[in-house]
Amino acid sequence: MIPFNKPYMTGDELYYIKDAVSRGKISGNGYYTQKCHNYFNEQMGFRNCLLTSSCTDALEMAAILIDIEPGDEVIMPSYTFVSTANAFVLRGAKIVFADSYKDNPNINADTLHELITSKTKAIVVVHYAGIACDMDKIMNLASTHDLFVIEDAAQAIDSYYKGKRLGTIGHLAAFSFHETKNIIAGEGGMLVVNDERFDQRAEIIWEKGTNRSAFFRGEVAKYSWVDIGSSFLPSDVTAAFLYAQLENLEKIQSRRKKIWNSYFEGLKKLGESGFLKLPNIPDYASVNGHLFYLVCKNIQERTALISFLKQNNVHSVFHYLSLHKSPFYHKDGTSLVLGNCDHFTDNLLRLPLYYELDREDQNQIVFLIAKFFKEK
Ligand SMILES: *Cc1c(COP(=O)(O)O)cnc(C)c1O
Repeated sequence: MIPFNKPYMTGDELYYIKDAVSRGKISGNGYYTQKCHNYFNEQMGFRNCLLTSSCTDALEMAAILIDIEPGDEVIMPSYTFVSTANAFVLRGAKIVFADSYKDNPNINADTLHELITSKTKAIVVVHYAGIACDMDKIMNLASTHDLFVIEDAAQAIDSYYKGKRLGTIGHLAAFSFHETKNIIAGEGGMLVVNDERFDQRAEIIWEKGTNRSAFFRGEVAKYSWVDIGSSFLPSDVTAAFLYAQLENLEKIQSRRKKIWNSYFEGLKKLGESGFLKLPNIPDYASVNGHLFYLVCKNIQERTALISFLKQNNVHSVFHYLSLHKSPFYHKDGTSLVLGNCDHFTDNLLRLPLYYELDREDQNQIVFLIAKFFKEK
């Protein structure tokens, strides 16, 4: 069976974990956490980041930082993972779902102005598949209405909008290092703070609402409970694992982008002949090889393609059941119609994409898809 995902271990993880253990201090914000922070700041140009136990945690920190209160409205795409919404729901926000573009699962920036009310506090964008949302339009709109922009950049490591690194554009951004992402730590994430107004408080919320970090820097005489917060820091063992991945970032990225491009080239003819639709990459966006998808004509066709691939030992998956139709959101009744979002929910199919996917297996997948459509 060709699996859908296979987490890539670079081979250096145990070396760094062993070192972390032998240093004798494995709680949060230790040696390897600092090394990862330095890497992100110095090699990747993020101005201030904090490792977290997950992207979900980083999103929850973002919701606390922008002071979400019951009744505040937060605009986000319906075509996303539950954590994007949950983080704000936990603080009492009302979620206002926006539709995707017709030819791109990302939030349609042109529809957002209609959704803004006097209660709107933030727009959360999700760079689906690592492909940038239209950030100029969104940042301009946000600045006109005095809103915060939070980038759910879970899938967007090493990706760009007009040459600007994703995760550096909104006021805050959240990354994921879950084992299904490009760079992994098993479970892990990162909050990026791009607006200096949040610097100090971010660190406090991260450290359970205490000024512990400032205390260890010798800036305060004792450490106390100064705000709300939680235990958002990962263990230094997790950070040691992540550090091994970061050192191999370039190698991992070049391989994943190559696989992504081979799918695109291999399936291009089927796209041109109208059998299926391939990802549409706007001029302003880059490809980071996070995930490869194709779009079928209808759900019956997608179901048939999944079973055909499965019969031929290829595991493909679909995802994101429109959140506006989820049992949790729907419980109060809603008549919201988001047609483009539903279109991707019903028809989008993800193909295997992982570092160790070899050429032969990939050719086989492309061959099978062509066979399916031509013999249908
Ligand atoms: C993976 C993912 C998350 C959650 O990441 P965790 O690290 O598992 O919490 C959130 N949003 C999006 C868009 C994701 O793809």
